Amino acid sequence: MITTIQEVKRKFDVEDVRKDFPILTRLVNGKSLVYLDNAATSQKPQTVIDALTQYYTFDNANIHRGLYFLSELATEQYESARLKVKEFINAMSVSEIVFVRGATEAINLVASSLCRAKHFKDGDEVIISHMEHHANIVPWQLLGDRKNINLKVIPINDAGELDMDAFEKLFCEKTKLVSVVHISNALGTINPVKKIIEIAHAKKIPVLIDGAQAIPHHKVDVQELDADFYVFSGHKVFGPTGIGVLYGKTEFLEMMPPYQGGGDMIRTVTFEKTTFDDIPRKFEAGTPNIAGGIALGAAIDYVMQFDRPELAEYENELLVYGTEKLSQIEGLRIIGTAKEKASVISFVIDGIHPYDIGTIIDTDGIAIRTGHHCTQPIMQRFNLPATARASFAFYNTKEEIDNLVLGIHKVKKMFA
Ligand code: PLP
Repeated sequence: MITTIQEVKRKFDVEDVRKDFPILTRLVNGKSLVYLDNAATSQKPQTVIDALTQYYTFDNANIHRGLYFLSELATEQYESARLKVKEFINAMSVSEIVFVRGATEAINLVASSLCRAKHFKDGDEVIISHMEHHANIVPWQLLGDRKNINLKVIPINDAGELDMDAFEKLFCEKTKLVSVVHISNALGTINPVKKIIEIAHAKKIPVLIDGAQAIPHHKVDVQELDADFYVFSGHKVFGPTGIGVLYGKTEFLEMMPPYQGGGDMIRTVTFEKTTFDDIPRKFEAGTPNIAGGIALGAAIDYVMQFDRPELAEYENELLVYGTEKLSQIEGLRIIGTAKEKASVISFVIDGIHPYDIGTIIDTDGIAIRTGHHCTQPIMQRFNLPATARASFAFYNTKEEIDNLVLGIHKVKKMFA
């Protein structure tokens, strides 16, 4: 039986929710873990861990090909997870949901397959933004082996917001795709993707949205956005690593050739010729991450038991509180002050390298990310080698932010 997403919403209570995430009870360096690196990966609720354990303990079999009980059970669970994803992002059809390893693989798939579909000619252009993750820069550059694609970059202002006037001016007859990030992992900026899509579509240009950071925080409706492609990773939305989603409109997926060849994506094979399965299977060569797909379904069930705007509102409270507290620290500068922001705070402190901040506060069990966050061009834009970044999920608390602030004061004292 295929299960659908639950309708009755659970009341959000942070202390209650924290009990669902076993890792939050652990000690690090003798202190309670304060996990503030959710933009890198989020923690997993027990239900997701249970889904993985259940599959490997009792239900393990390969999917799609077996005519015996376990194989049919595994297939049903995997395909039911696909249906959950379809409902989660409101795709038109379940066949528009391609399971991949993550956002990175999804973008590589689109780049490679569009190129093979002859969507690009030498000298054509893809519009991206200055705040892209490397996952939305490098795949386009790799096409250089086959087609010489030029990247046109939407500039940003000092707050970390896209210059939309400049964006409109980037289009020309060589523009073949717009590929932009929904929420920046480095700055937290929420980009006006609906507007971006409208502008591009008015010029008949398709749009890919990198939703890796948006999906964990906001309800995404791909039909309402009218995105042609939307990609995300399971591990950032409380699911396991090694599973992610490429959403593509049917008209594009139908016209695109397979990305990889192998078992499970074919209809017939002879030594002379192969015919391919329908979408999405033609993009899913080989044995997939079955347990990961099933557990991603459990992660979606977990998130969907809540009223999502209520979660987003709580995360915004954390953002406002954290911004206020961190801004009060002398010598600390927040990088990324867009009006529309998700719960990500990147910062630098005069005279202290971000690596030192991260390493010292780790001794108190506080986990933040330091570095270029796989967004080197945005670091160059702000003339910085790196930032420290605290990113919050709905299981974080104001007390944890207070601990971060105490930790930063300790770092400053050491460097005084
Ligand atoms: N895009 C954005 C905005 C990200 O933040 C990330 C990961 O940090 C990615 C893409 C790549 O995700 P993954 O490494 O899960 O494929």
